[in-house]
Amino acid sequence: MDFSLNTFEKLLNICESNNKKIYEVMQEKEAYDFETDVKSVRERVKKNIEAMKSAIKNGMNSNEKSYSGLCGDDCIKLQEKYKKEKAIFGKIYEKITTYALATMEENLRMNKIVACPTAGSCGIVPAVIIALSEEKGLSNEEEINALITAGTIGYIISGRVAMAGAVAGCQAECGVASAMSAAAAVEIMGGNEKQKVNAAILALKNILGLTCDPVGGLVEIPCVKRNVFLAIHAITGAELALADIESKIPADEVVDAMVQTGQLMSPLLKETSQGGLAVTKNGILISSKL
Ligand code: SF4
Repeated sequence: MDFSLNTFEKLLNICESNNKKIYEVMQEKEAYDFETDVKSVRERVKKNIEAMKSAIKNGMNSNEKSYSGLCGDDCIKLQEKYKKEKAIFGKIYEKITTYALATMEENLRMNKIVACPTAGSCGIVPAVIIALSEEKGLSNEEEINALITAGTIGYIISGRVAMAGAVAGCQAECGVASAMSAAAAVEIMGGNEKQKVNAAILALKNILGLTCDPVGGLVEIPCVKRNVFLAIHAITGAELALADIESKIPADEVVDAMVQTGQLMSPLLKETSQGGLAVTKNGILISSKL
């Protein structure tokens, strides 16, 4: 099998010609690249899923603030809200939003999370996979399949642009995490390989140009709540793709556009905290008190 996975077109061709799913291709590639076997690859992924679940559990039970004191108690607030009044979109929405917040709040407390693709976007993939897993009653093996699918999307995009707000803005962090999650959601829902790539690319396409403008240079404002929004954004990508609604711009061209958008973006909006939300009146006020 050809293991040079550098475009989505190539990924889909390999899947089709070998009659394999995305996760099957990727786990074989990982085993080949790291001179190990598929079982070991899957065991490593399983450990990441366990770490994601621990972060969610710990985050849901803590209202400890971050060192800055700016964030850390929103997950508890959200859970209290859902106890009093159910979410408009039901239980799965409650879980996704709660899990994204729980994980991100664990990150800002400097506790253990899984960077996927980065620490600043660590809430999105776990929220979608674990919430859907619980609702659908997935096995451990199915959870692993979903996370490897998500990882494949991130892997191909990361071959074109660094997953860093400093390089391409938040589209390269939370945007990519949302794309990864959309593909994982389609895997969980039993969609085909083309739908998985399409879900990812629909999510990515609709978040192009997202700025990175953290207040005070901390991965807190707007990062924490942004994870919640982009976890839900991923579900929209999955739903459209499962209906065979396709991106009219092919996947690899959307990545081209993302790379170019990142290059055109002002450095003021790429993690320097010199533009956007970071330099609003209150952004500056908050920074001055840190
Ligand atoms: S705003 Fe910047 S620091 Fe925050 S999650 Fe996005 S890319 Fe990371």
